[in-house]
Amino acid sequence: MNFSDFNLKDTIQQAITDAGFKEPSPVQKDAIPLILEGNDIIAQAQTGTGKTAAFGLPIMNMMKADGSVEGLVIVPTRELAMQVSDELFRFGKLSNLKTATVYGGTAYTRQIDRVKQASIVVATPGRLQDLLMSGKIKINPQFVVLDEADEMLDMGFLDEIKNIFTFLPKERQTLMFSATMPNAIRKLAQQILKDPKTIAITKSESTNENITQNYYVVQERERDDALVRLIDYKNPDKCIIFCRMKKEVDRLVSHLTSQGFKVSGLHGDMEQRQREVTIRAFKQGGVDIFVATDVAARGLDVNDVTHVFNYHIPFDSESYVHRIGRTGRAGKTGEAITLVTPSELRTIKRIEKDVGTTMATQVIPTRQEVQNSKSDELIAKIAGTQVTQRAIDLVKTLQHDIDIVTISHLLASMIQEEQNIKGKDSIGLGLEEIELLIQRAVQSRGNDRNRNGNGRRRRSGGNGGGNRSGGREGRNRDGHRGSRNSSSRQRD
Ligand code: ADP
Ligand code: MG
Repeated sequence: MNFSDFNLKDTIQQAITDAGFKEPSPVQKDAIPLILEGNDIIAQAQTGTGKTAAFGLPIMNMMKADGSVEGLVIVPTRELAMQVSDELFRFGKLSNLKTATVYGGTAYTRQIDRVKQASIVVATPGRLQDLLMSGKIKINPQFVVLDEADEMLDMGFLDEIKNIFTFLPKERQTLMFSATMPNAIRKLAQQILKDPKTIAITKSESTNENITQNYYVVQERERDDALVRLIDYKNPDKCIIFCRMKKEVDRLVSHLTSQGFKVSGLHGDMEQRQREVTIRAFKQGGVDIFVATDVAARGLDVNDVTHVFNYHIPFDSESYVHRIGRTGRAGKTGEAITLVTPSELRTIKRIEKDVGTTMATQVIPTRQEVQNSKSDELIAKIAGTQVTQRAIDLVKTLQHDIDIVTISHLLASMIQEEQNIKGKDSIGLGLEEIELLIQRAVQSRGNDRNRNGNGRRRRSGGNGGGNRSGGREGRNRDGHRGSRNSSSRQRD
């Protein structure tokens, strides 16, 4: 199947060609024809599968470019608002479809001016609600998209979303996209969609098969050492490290910077401008390592992220799927690496079950092993290097005083010193130890069930693992639920 099979307008087709898209992705194949026929849809697809184009292309194809706002896309975070807006701009520019981006944290006036000239508004819920309720903008979009709907509900935006829909025309086409489909989403769908067509993928496909998933078992105090060792070993081009808390992001950024890595952090407390600069630096390669909280990194589309690290295992399976979905995008391969302590092994097992995937148990390489692998890399690099005239001159000069073998030893030592592997020799648990712990965890779970007769309830109702008996309401990925809700509202 080809994009031309959709019979899109020439200007849209040209934009697709310009973007370098050859073939529609599965969600695009399913969604585009249904949307063009005028259906409401509710679509679930894994991250990085091109959901933006799946809704953007067909709605833009149906727009008149008459200067009014014809489409509204609601997204959870400002990063995502900017990203989706950029992508839609790309598709729409040849058709004269302008986009405006509306999010919190910056002045109202420019955003309002841009909305007046736009065909498509991409907005976060908080700011959009403000503008609609205060009457600062009036829009009648015929196409309304909720992108990353599950995350918006997780962030506590349900009330805002319901309120926003009271300002929207009854006659409209509504499209809902979500990587996961919890019950709250289905309920919302019943309220805002009309006879929706469902596009779903099976659970086992909800993580992308291009992503290799590994986990390492360490003691709590070994997390930093383990992380640095694994970065040294894996040598990622670009990686994202996920943390649970903002202060952890700040701490890791300074720690990794002190280890000589090019690092920056992203979390909700940062100023808008600073966030934009940071993301751009990461996209353009000035920064190799990005340390982020879940909320900040949601939906972030950066090409060529080779590795995702879970410094802490996420609290829920959905979050795991989203995090690792930052790598292996657009057909590329990627690796997801999770650090867990022995008491978190049960959580790993639960996530594997929820997500329908298996993560491989791995052992952290010793310093010697990393050094050996660096030497192998170096040998390959030396073999592939072109000799320059300057190098020949340099060796000639050295040869006056030093014999040729010693020169080569000195040069090799010099290079190796630069890639010196730090830290203690061995970090984390070995395979046999891990196997034993897993067996025990499984056994004790069985015992719980027999003894209390409510093992099942404890596991599913409490969202699993003994280490998070507080459940989802008590704690969440970015700190406390209450504080995150209010800070999201402020932000957006
Ligand atoms: P999602 O919203 O599903 O996480 P995005 O819409 O952000 O995914 O798309 C992920 C990346 O894939 C983007 O860089 C996008 O430009 C690219 N992309 C989308 N559709 C295609 C396609 N059909 N062919 C090639 N690249 C695509
Ligand atoms: Mg998306």
